[in-house]
Amino acid sequence: MLKKKYERPFIKKMSVGILDKTGVQPAFTPVTHIDGVAVSELIRKYGTPLFVMSEQQIRLNYQAMFRAFSTRYPKVQCAWSYKTHYNNAICRIFHQEGSWAEVVSGFEYRKALQNGVPGSQIIFNGPDKQEEELRLAVTQESLIHIDHFEELYLLTSVCESLGKKAQVAIRVNMDTGVYPIWDRFGFNFENGQAWTAIQKIAASNMLSLTGLHTHIGTFMLSTDAYAVAARKLSTLALKCKAELNIVVKYIDMGGGFPGINTLKGTYGAIQLPTVDAFAEAITSTMLEAGFPPADLPLLILESGRLLVDDAGYLLGTVLANKKLSDGRKATIMDFGVNILFTSFWYDHKISPAQEVSAYQEDTVIYGPLCMNIDVVREHLSLPLLNRGDHVVVHNVGAYNMTQWMQFIAMRPAIILIDTKGDTHVIRQKENLEYLEQLEQIPKHLQ
Ligand SMILES: *Cc1c(COP(=O)(O)O)cnc(C)c1O
Repeated sequence: MLKKKYERPFIKKMSVGILDKTGVQPAFTPVTHIDGVAVSELIRKYGTPLFVMSEQQIRLNYQAMFRAFSTRYPKVQCAWSYKTHYNNAICRIFHQEGSWAEVVSGFEYRKALQNGVPGSQIIFNGPDKQEEELRLAVTQESLIHIDHFEELYLLTSVCESLGKKAQVAIRVNMDTGVYPIWDRFGFNFENGQAWTAIQKIAASNMLSLTGLHTHIGTFMLSTDAYAVAARKLSTLALKCKAELNIVVKYIDMGGGFPGINTLKGTYGAIQLPTVDAFAEAITSTMLEAGFPPADLPLLILESGRLLVDDAGYLLGTVLANKKLSDGRKATIMDFGVNILFTSFWYDHKISPAQEVSAYQEDTVIYGPLCMNIDVVREHLSLPLLNRGDHVVVHNVGAYNMTQWMQFIAMRPAIILIDTKGDTHVIRQKENLEYLEQLEQIPKHLQ
């Protein structure tokens, strides 16, 4: 046996925390300003936790997306997905930019009307449209996207009682090569249900088939899936013309383009396709599908998270630090999963809001709730933060401010920084009075 070589011993500094795929430990640059506004000033004025939305970033995102599609295809329309963020101020930014509204419930529908969106520019999606709501939508000449046969029959009877035709599309689900298939919404393409629904609409005196819709999933990483979906909807549309002499006026490709967040377990190692790549996949498929130029359908997009996620920040304050039984460090923040619902599937980037030391330690980030699942980050390599220090959580603009819970703590205020750098409260912090507004005490307990 060969004698092993002697190696000189050396001391290497241990580096804790999770490295990304390139072996780089993230450095912490304090985030002291958002759109030129000092974070410390926002916190002094409004306290924490505090949601901050950037109007400028929303407009830039919208314009980039619209440009990606409209430079490749002649007829493009965006419809703002209300459930992603239905604060009226945010919706109105999108409507000012030219977006229609895409709603999935009766109250979202009424919000869109109250935000000044003409009925004919409201897309009514979702499996639960009440008779009353359908009546309103037919009267307002909205685009009603039928989800199931029961809804088709209900809508027909609503139209008959009103003596008014409805502009409808069907939602189509399909195999796009991404699994599991979202086949619970709409009618399936492969098993023929979608075609059956189209035939029923074509045979109806009350329903007029205007469009075809799909929404194949969310945080989609595959541009190919959109190409497949666009091809299948185009095929259906061409079949409508060939067999039923119906010209489908629009194809609505839904949303689902990923925001820039890091999905749990991926450590940022996934390369997300750009909006241009999605646009290329969809538009080239539609342009090559064989539509006569005059019948080229309008392309509608219902992108949600991509357009607001990186425009939203959550400002928070450190409440305490402690050592856990296994030796790990834990930091307790004044915001938890009650207002950061997306922390269940994203590893949110968290930055200190003031100067920090270079030394980092693996840290668990807890929220303030008396509930074991209130974990904002399982592992985060963080510099030492003391009680009273502030942090900025990034990319929280999508879904958090609609899915947030009023549990143990009140929901915080939302601030909008406008394009001039002025700040506006667009939703006040909740208080006890607000919470108890709907409560009633029976007489025997008074
Ligand atoms: C939620 C939803 C959207 C938006 O989805 P994102 O993943 O946020 O882009 C669009 N269309 C429909 C029908 C939806 O349900």
